[in-house]
Order: sequence, then C-alpha cells, then structure tokens
Amino acid sequence: MIPDEARTLLEERRAQLEETARTNEDATAVVELDQARIGRLSRMDAMQSQAMSAEIKRRNERELKAIAAALERLDNEEYGECIACGEEISDARLRANPVATVCIDCAEGRR
Ligand SMILES: [Zn+2]
Repeated sequence: MIPDEARTLLEERRAQLEETARTNEDATAVVELDQARIGRLSRMDAMQSQAMSAEIKRRNERELKAIAAALERLDNEEYGECIACGEEISDARLRANPVATVCIDCAEGRR
C-alpha cells in the first residue's frame, strides 16, 4: 500500500476513535448525574452502561495505541510488512484493518 493511503486510513480511524471517546465520556457523565435521582432498577442499568463505557474506553485506548504504533512503522517504512513472515500485507486487508501487523496467512495460521 502506498504510504499516503495508509496515513489517511490511520488518521481517519484515529479521528473516529477520538470522536467515540468524546461521546463515550459524555455518556459516562450523564450516568453519574442521573444516579442521584434514580431507583434501584435503573441504578443497575446505570451500572451496566458504566461498565460498557469502561469497556469502550479500554478498547478505544488499545486501538489508539495500535494506530500510533502503525504510524511509527509507516515512518520507519515498515508499514504493511507482516511482522511474522515479512511478506506484504494485502491492501484489502489493510483497508479493512489499517493496524493489521500480520498477513492473512499468518493470522489464520496457514504459515
Ligand atoms: Zn505473514
């Protein structure tokens, strides 16, 4: 994949994640505000959505780290190279998952 396309893909994905992080934080804040004036059942709902928010946050942060690492590989001209076998990762795979670090064969244990 040409570096410019990779960079665009990674930056777009990062922008999406940052947007999700903002929305997610707003949702957490609303839950906390509501807790003072809700009953037991809805408190359970609130706890559930807080747990979900925390999970979204964890996943988000993990992917943001993966994006930072991918951008670093891009700067080092290592982006798109399978870290397991050294073959090039297909453009289709990178378009679907721009932070992929292994080719499809390695990912599926065929190599
Ligand atoms: Zn591979």
